[in-house]
Amino acid sequence: MPTIRDYADIAGKGAIEELYLLADRLSGKVVQNVNSTAVGGGVAEILIRMLPLLRDLGVDARWDVIKGDERFFATTKKIHNALHGVAVDINEDEFAGFLETNRMNASGMTFGDVVFVHDPQPIALIEERPQAGGRWVWRCHIDFSRPDEHVWRFLKTYVDRYDSAVFSAPAFARTLSIPQVLISPSIDPLSDKNRDLPAETIDGIFERFGIDRSRPVVTQISRFDFLKDPVGVIKAYRIAKRRVDCQLVLAGGGATDDPEGPAIMKQVMDEAEHDKDIHVLFLPPASDIEINALQRGSTVVLQKSLREGFGLTVAEALWKSCPTIAGAVGGIPLQIKHKYSGILTHSIEGTAHWIKQLLQEPAFARRLGQNGREHVKNNFLITRHIKDYLLLFLSLYHPDDIVYL
Ligand code: UDP
Repeated sequence: MPTIRDYADIAGKGAIEELYLLADRLSGKVVQNVNSTAVGGGVAEILIRMLPLLRDLGVDARWDVIKGDERFFATTKKIHNALHGVAVDINEDEFAGFLETNRMNASGMTFGDVVFVHDPQPIALIEERPQAGGRWVWRCHIDFSRPDEHVWRFLKTYVDRYDSAVFSAPAFARTLSIPQVLISPSIDPLSDKNRDLPAETIDGIFERFGIDRSRPVVTQISRFDFLKDPVGVIKAYRIAKRRVDCQLVLAGGGATDDPEGPAIMKQVMDEAEHDKDIHVLFLPPASDIEINALQRGSTVVLQKSLREGFGLTVAEALWKSCPTIAGAVGGIPLQIKHKYSGILTHSIEGTAHWIKQLLQEPAFARRLGQNGREHVKNNFLITRHIKDYLLLFLSLYHPDDIVYL
């Protein structure tokens, strides 16, 4: 695990000194993160990388994962989908079960000075606040541009009891009685998932998966979730393939708080049928080097999401200078300026068109990748993210000094 000083080469020495100064102001405070999965998905990915660096800076940063049964995670997945604007039916029993699980978790927890609650699953822990004290922040990682009103009304009664709420993109801002802060997620350039890899490692991993690198490879890496539109990806690939030779890689795994994965994976397998140029790869947790190699070795990377809080996979691909085509949804347009640092699409046909274009115009594709890397370097690395979080935590102790726009 790298230390925070190892980031000076990329972020600059001054930026690291600044982090130490800010962290020093939090001395003696416990910053406790709470979410609902230890592996899988973007939230866990960020916490795994960020917590050791915060500790390295001297911050007493902790992490609790709430526990729930199948019924709880079926409900939270419904809530997640509803907040992404998908029509779902959640009954009163399910809401009651959701609260009960939150209360059960709360009873076994010790709360820190700053309680940083990620996403809706543990949101009702805020009920403990009168007894626990401390400053509470709700960090929403999901695409909130068109939430289901019924579910949002239910959650809002809890959100309004926090000190502030953090969203990933301006389009997700809601009408709330508390201050809202915009903080983009980030990637860790020194992690196994993002660090430079020797060419032999990349070759070896492609060989192990049986993918032919002498022909173009188009890849999407994502949990098997219908909001990542894996079936749409296959359809786009099929259209593009009528004009240009290519192979498709759909690689991903699951998250413990996402019960829908296996059903979506089956749908993908059925759709892929017996096309030997479609590689559906099930990745176990901790497949970081495999993901890194697949992104680096692909000709084009896709992230054809239908909704997306931020889309760490996009930042990961851009950091590796991969020509990237992604859905123009949620936090993705913060990362891709169309035809400059990547391609934004709105449909299967549009995605197919741009796969063909980028495969046929490698010089243009290369330029997109280079611009993408620069954009990530300037905006979406973990050091910037840590600074934003430290400032946020400090602002909780000096609310009158902050001007919210
Ligand atoms: N990821 C992973 N294994 C997988 C699929 C995804 O490690 O099988 C990682 C991916 O590289 C990224 C994160 O999980 O770092 C996904 O974050 P993103 O914001 O793209 O989507 P989310 O899954 O949070 O909706």
